[in-house]
Amino acid sequence: MTAENIHPEFHRFLKREDKEQLLGQRGVVLWMYGLSGSGKSTIANAVERRLFEEGRFTVILDGDNLRSGLNGNLGFSDEDRRENVRRNAEVAKLFARQGVITLVSVITPRRALRDLAREVVGEDFVEVHVKASFETCARRDPKGLYAKAQRGEVTQFTGKDSGFEEPEKAEVVLDTEARSVEESAARLMEFLRSRSPLNT
Ligand code: ADP
Repeated sequence: MTAENIHPEFHRFLKREDKEQLLGQRGVVLWMYGLSGSGKSTIANAVERRLFEEGRFTVILDGDNLRSGLNGNLGFSDEDRRENVRRNAEVAKLFARQGVITLVSVITPRRALRDLAREVVGEDFVEVHVKASFETCARRDPKGLYAKAQRGEVTQFTGKDSGFEEPEKAEVVLDTEARSVEESAARLMEFLRSRSPLNT
């Protein structure tokens, strides 16, 4: 086949705008990060339900769930956490570019990891810090991990033997010691509305 017989027809492919028009919303990645037990999954779930009731199409990319599939071969070393974030960011980007409101819930303990996610996703990226102190998270301990870490049964545990760097440039901070789940969900809804007329 010669080059003159190849006719690229990119102009015929459906564009992001076409999908966004169909869905009546704008694609975005809400990158929710914070200590284990800070409330990422709980708030993502509450926001998703609110959006669903308003007829919005969403996807939750939960760090723990992805670790049981796509990221099943990764551990918690610095290198593996980086690869974990990179893959989650690449998947989130694919969804956002199809017009999906994408809620990512991953600890993402270091600034460099957040920056990597931002770099991968690009302009759709919104940094949402789900904030609670180590002591509060340890008291909540919804998955029993803090107790295990205390007994030395979990290594490289974030906040204990693996660090969490406080953010400098979170677009949204949800302080779950000061706000209820519903208040945090409402704050994120408000943020989405202010960001795009298509998300009203
Ligand atoms: P993460 O996904 O960050 O690991 P989870 O959402 O799984 O955390 O767990 C957070 C736990 O804290 C849940 O059991 C939730 O009910 C509880 N919790 C208590 N108060 C709040 C609050 N104000 N916001 C979010 N979660 C809260």
